[in-house]
Amino acid sequence: MPHADRSKQREINFCRRCGTTLNKISEEYWKCKNQHSTFNSPVPATGIFFLTPNKQSIILARRKFDPNKGLLDCVGGFMEINESAEDAVRREITEETELTQDHYSTPIYLCSAPSNYYYQGENIPVISTLFWAVIHEGVQLKPHDDVAEIVTLSPDEISFEMLSGEDIKQGFAKLKEIL
Ligand SMILES: [Zn+2]
Repeated sequence: MPHADRSKQREINFCRRCGTTLNKISEEYWKCKNQHSTFNSPVPATGIFFLTPNKQSIILARRKFDPNKGLLDCVGGFMEINESAEDAVRREITEETELTQDHYSTPIYLCSAPSNYYYQGENIPVISTLFWAVIHEGVQLKPHDDVAEIVTLSPDEISFEMLSGEDIKQGFAKLKEIL
């Protein structure tokens, strides 16, 4: 099967309100004949870089599924309705690793970074809010959900090619500055 062009922007063809054809006004914006607007807004996501108690190593999640199956990712995921980034990251941490907030230091804001999530032939724009926190002594992360395994590596052992998305690469670069 031919691969779709991952650099190509998401196409939205029909108005979600009236079902008529959309006309592209700009890269960000479509309009139907009934003047309903559709915006190409990014989907908000959140993630966390966990550090070991001595802050010498980074704990990452190996992706179990596509997109980017096998590459390393933050623990995290898409935000839900009525959630803050802080609430979303705590929920995702528990879903993916079984940890609760007693198991790690208060997440500290690291950066936000745009990325793309290539899914079912569509290149979906994403904006990720990333945090970091330190795992308490003796705490183990258990892989669940879309996590194949938990990986602990020193910053020197991690290359950009091992990381799953532009957001994670940017976050890793930022994290290295503060370690
Ligand atoms: Zn419409």
